[in-house]
Parts: sequence; C-alpha cells; structure tokens
Amino acid sequence: MTILVTGGAGFIGSNFVLDWLAASDEAVVNLDKLTYAGNPENLASLRDDARHVFVKGDIGDYALVLDLLTRHRVRAVVNFAAESHVDRSIHGPEDFIQTNILGSFRLLEAVRCYWNGLDDAEKNAFRLLHVSTDEVYGSLAKTDPPFAESNQYQPNSPYSASKAASDHLVRAYHHTYGLPVLTTNCSNNYGPYHFPEKLIPLCIQNALSGKPLPIYGDGQQIRDWLYVKDHCSAIRRVLEAGRVGEVYNVGGWNEKANLEVVHTLCAILDELQPRADGKSYAEQITYVTDRPGHDRRYAIDAGKLERELGWKPAESFETGIRKTVQWYLRHQDWVNNVLSGDYQSWLDKNYANR
Ligand code: NAD
Repeated sequence: MTILVTGGAGFIGSNFVLDWLAASDEAVVNLDKLTYAGNPENLASLRDDARHVFVKGDIGDYALVLDLLTRHRVRAVVNFAAESHVDRSIHGPEDFIQTNILGSFRLLEAVRCYWNGLDDAEKNAFRLLHVSTDEVYGSLAKTDPPFAESNQYQPNSPYSASKAASDHLVRAYHHTYGLPVLTTNCSNNYGPYHFPEKLIPLCIQNALSGKPLPIYGDGQQIRDWLYVKDHCSAIRRVLEAGRVGEVYNVGGWNEKANLEVVHTLCAILDELQPRADGKSYAEQITYVTDRPGHDRRYAIDAGKLERELGWKPAESFETGIRKTVQWYLRHQDWVNNVLSGDYQSWLDKNYANR
C-alpha cells in the first residue's frame, strides 16, 4: 500500500515523511512544488530508500495528481501543501489563493475522480486527511475558552482565510460527494527543519549571528505551541482511527506569549552556547512595529482527539524547545544552506528535471 503526501519537503511534511517511514513499511509518494519553503535536503536520509518516491509538482495539476493516485494505487492522501507564512500572505496574497484555495480544489477533484473508480472495499478504506491550522478560528480574548471544533470560523489574515476556504471545500466534498475526509486544525508547530523565517528558528539564528531578535508590538501575542513530532503522531492517529467527516483540533496545552518564547530561547542559548562577551542573548531583543491585524491570542482544546483517539503529546514545551535549540546548534550547515545561494543551486542541480 502507498500513501500520497503533498508538501512533504516542507517543515511539517518532511518531519511526517521521516517519522512515517521510520515506523511503517508503507511507501510514500511525496508531491511537492519545491517553493522557497520546500527543501529536499530535509529528506536526504531517504535518498536510497525505495519506499520514498519524490515528485516535483503542483497539487493544482489535476492530471499529475490523478496519474500518481492511479499509478501507485494510493490508499490515503495527507495534504500538507500550502503557502504557510502569514507575513508573506499580507505582502502578496496571490500565491495563497492559488495554492491554498485553487490548488486544494484541484487536488480534491483529482481525488474524487480516483476514488469514484475504486471498488467498494477500497472506497471505504480510502482517506483524505487535510492538514489545517487553528488560525481559521480567529482571535481570542484573554478570558475566552480555547478553540473547540464547534467554534465559528473567523479568519483574519489572507493566509488563514485561504486555509479556511480549503477546509470548507474539504467539508463540502464529504457532504456532497461522500469523499472520506478528515481535517486536523493544529496550533503553532516548532522543531527540526523549520524554515528560518518563523519566530523560533529566526530568533535562534539571529541570536547566534549577533542580529536583533525582532518582537512584534508588545510581544504579548499568545500562541499554543506543539512540538512538530507530536503533530505528526496526531496526524498518524487521526488517519488510522479518526471518524470520517470529522474535524480534530491538535494542540499542546502550551499557551505562551511570543516574548516569553524568545526569553526561553535566550536562556537555553545562554546555557548551551554563551555569548563571547558573557552577556545574555536577551540583550538582542528589539521591538518592531506590529504586524497589521495581528491576532492577539490562539488557544486550542485538543480534548476531542485525546478522548476519542487516545492521543497525547510526548513533549512538554520545556523539553521540546530544548531539543529544538540543540537541533539548530547541531545543524548550522542546514541553516546556512537554506539561507545561502548554495541551496538554490543545489535545488537547480538535483531537481531541475524531476
Ligand atoms: P511549509 O511552508 O514549511 O511547507 C509547505 C510545503 O508545501 C513546501 O514544501 C512547499 O514547497 C509545498 N508547496 C507549496 N505550494 C505547493 C503546491 N502548489 N503544490 C505542491 N506543493 C506545494 O509549511 P508547514 O509549516 O510545513 O505547514 C504544512 C501544513 O500545515 C500547511 O498546510 C499549514 O497550513 C499547516 N499548519 C502549519 C502549522 C505551523 O505551525 N507551521 C500549524 C498548523 C497547520
């Protein structure tokens, strides 16, 4: 049997593919467009592994997706592919509409066509799991309860609006066509292979290079944080046992203000790799103008996933963030490649014709 993973060269997708193949013999076809966020180097350890088939391509390419599904007799699709960075969506929303809405629509159409052609047993066993975000629920006040699956969608950025649109399409394909779908809405992830434009890897990297650690506004925006491997285990569990048509929130019960997260990073770096002048990395914290429309608080209630499917995160924020800092300290070559032109030339050389 084979699963199709889309966006499997990105941050969460590559962690998922690595974890999947470490735990199962089931092959993975990995479809990724290799945008700036897709990095095949994350999957370098699978280069000689016949269970991993990498295909450079777009989820919006209906013919390609249908061909992959049919040729590999895929039994499940896990859709990670997306434009994922809120700041980029503010400066240029077009790509977000293109991939997150139109791309998801074409993917759904290809999956629907393939699924219609399966026999009854295969149809029943088939799953499409759509990976989404807690940002679709909007912003919470300090005293509001965390987001439940029943919360109304109130997306505030072009990114979250485009993800909300894809979630609605996935829901509609189940209700209208009977497609066996599952949706997960997860909080902020952190961990290995995180592109250094997002808060945690950006601050680790800037700290080490003596640059400012930029804090939007007053730094009191609250997010729930989940170690990426725990998100991967939640997706595996939902794929295995989730009820068709259901939505599952995924989170770590770890609400932290951005400023607190950055102070935690500084404290771990102070201990593991002290600054040459003996001062704390916290000295590099710099307040910058807030992001327009910045949501104040996200918090997620993962109770349904825990009660129904027995899932629990393995890492606390304290253990996960320490592992993350250690990973970045050990993988400075990975960061430097991502940040340098070498990465682009490597990409052109290795993936130009695939
Ligand atoms: P990412 O930006 O690191 O990776 C996205 C991947 O998708 C990249 O490899 C990129 O090349 C690929 N891609 C983009 N457009 C594509 C297209 N048209 N066709 C095929 N591939 C395409 O993102 P991520 O942080 O790994 O997030 C993965 C998914 O999880 C996204 O759907 C995101 O909305 C969701 N999510 C992310 C977080 C988080 O904290 N990062 C939290 C909750 C949900």
